[in-house]
Amino acid sequence: MKTNIFGMFAEEIAQAVEPYGLQKYRGEQIARWIYQHNITDFAQMTNLSVEQRKFLAENFAILTAVEKARQAAADRQTSKYLLLFSDGAAVETVLMCHPYGNSVCVSTQVGCAMGCLFCASTLHGIIRNLTGGEILAQLLYIDRLLAAESTRVNTIVIMGSGEPLANYDHLLRFIHLCHQEYCLNLSYRNITVSTCGIVPEINKLAAEGIPVNLSISLHAPTNEIRSKLMPINQRFPLETVLVAADRYAEKTGRRITYEYILIDGINDKPEHAAALAAILKGRLANVNLIPVNPVPERGLLRPSDAHIKRFFAGLQSRHINVTIRHEMGADIQAACGQLRNRMT
Ligand code: SAH
Repeated sequence: MKTNIFGMFAEEIAQAVEPYGLQKYRGEQIARWIYQHNITDFAQMTNLSVEQRKFLAENFAILTAVEKARQAAADRQTSKYLLLFSDGAAVETVLMCHPYGNSVCVSTQVGCAMGCLFCASTLHGIIRNLTGGEILAQLLYIDRLLAAESTRVNTIVIMGSGEPLANYDHLLRFIHLCHQEYCLNLSYRNITVSTCGIVPEINKLAAEGIPVNLSISLHAPTNEIRSKLMPINQRFPLETVLVAADRYAEKTGRRITYEYILIDGINDKPEHAAALAAILKGRLANVNLIPVNPVPERGLLRPSDAHIKRFFAGLQSRHINVTIRHEMGADIQAACGQLRNRMT
């Protein structure tokens, strides 16, 4: 069995190759090859001796992701990739090209255990966690495509399939790897973690001392509605999520984004906007309204444009910072899990 080094920190690679007589600084050299130059064949690591390359190839593997399917949206700004790992598991990764930069949305789990009513990723439950290396492999796959067009990944949103805070250690490894100079050298401020609201892990993330952005999938202004949409609310009710988010904002100085899916007749009425404004009043927060991407299996519908505008105005008039998510990729079913469900 060869040891996979993709997903290791440079120091870990150094430790792994030391028994084969490679000096410590080789760890960082190898890390640069795999993370910055996307080299997966030891033979191409030309600053190592031919003998060292042979040793490495005999004992180590560099496991990344391969493309199984791709869909480009009509707007030409969004493309979705179904990427395959060595065990046959596949996840979705989305590239969004904005005028202000390229953003990649990565998945953290194959499937999801959270059971949110509106979400296609969770329809068949969870299959497994992704490793830090597998999360990074998605990002670097896209980065390589962009590099061919002389551009790079600028921001990362951890909003693909899976609940990132239910895969905490691998999530943290991924985030720290992205930040390393020998990898993407990305600022923590350019990374956003989205969660359904697992309170102890939000607190843990706040204590890490890294200023990544936090997005909370709120989706409802009352426990009654939220518990119907999101089973996690029965374990960590709305008010406990808000307190954890406040603490996160205070510790990191980062404004929290609350995502709010608008679903026809369920959470889109004027009284819901009023209740949402009331619970967010005085908090360091943005609300991002997302007209639901209909999931036919669940019978949840998108509100009319008039109702979306009404909800927006209901927040704005109460001085809540609010945006409506520009719907990129609705035609390629970019909502979580929809491509994977069709292809596997
Ligand atoms: N588990 C994390 C991250 C993955 S979901 C979380 O809950 O935040 C990423 C975002 O996509 C969440 O806000 C989620 O609620 C939203 N989403 C899921 N299904 C959707 C759908 N059908 N339409 C619109 N947004 C959806």
